[in-house]
Amino acid sequence: MKKLLKGILEFRQNVLEDYKETFARLALTQTPDVLFIACSDSRVVPNLFASTNPGDLFVLRNIGNLVPPYASDTQEQGSQSVAAALEFALLKLKVPHIIVCGHSACGAMTALCSQEKLDALPHLRAWLNAANVTPEKFKDKLEFKSVLSPVDQLSQINILLQIEHLKTYPLVQQRIQEGKLVLHGWWFDIAKADVYAFEEEFKKFMLIDEEEAARIARKLDT
Ligand SMILES: [Zn+2]
Repeated sequence: MKKLLKGILEFRQNVLEDYKETFARLALTQTPDVLFIACSDSRVVPNLFASTNPGDLFVLRNIGNLVPPYASDTQEQGSQSVAAALEFALLKLKVPHIIVCGHSACGAMTALCSQEKLDALPHLRAWLNAANVTPEKFKDKLEFKSVLSPVDQLSQINILLQIEHLKTYPLVQQRIQEGKLVLHGWWFDIAKADVYAFEEEFKKFMLIDEEEAARIARKLDT
């Protein structure tokens, strides 16, 4: 906590001047082109690994970067926060991209892999139901050629599951059909600070290097 206070003072003294115009402009409106759905994990830092600036990303974070399947009942607990973020991002901000970003060594995936009972954490246990996935379900879509731990394999499978869940929302379906929305799966490897993107044709997450970045950019242009 004291580090945060020190950081605010450092920002005010050394950085704020460079951002004054940016924040004055952003106070009037925001026009991010991405809804970024990530895990709450403190080590997942999109502003750093994607060099984003204020106003670039509309962010939804929760444990395990989960998107509970669509529920028409607006009182349904759990899906409210995600559904509200989707409504705002798609109807108000009209973002054309949603990125579901998982990561290595995810605590939520570790809990699922170890079949931890989580008796003392009933809400967390209930929340993780949205990540209850049978890995076999995605064996045709994702092949693991590199050596990935079971937890990391599950975190990549979980990204594909959450993208499937996104498609259960009528609003998301409609935007995709209209050609106004593209869904992406990213995976952040904490140890190397590398970011990977899911490529359906290769059935794997590809390191976003210059070649992969160019491949993604080409697809965006078509
Ligand atoms: Zn996590």
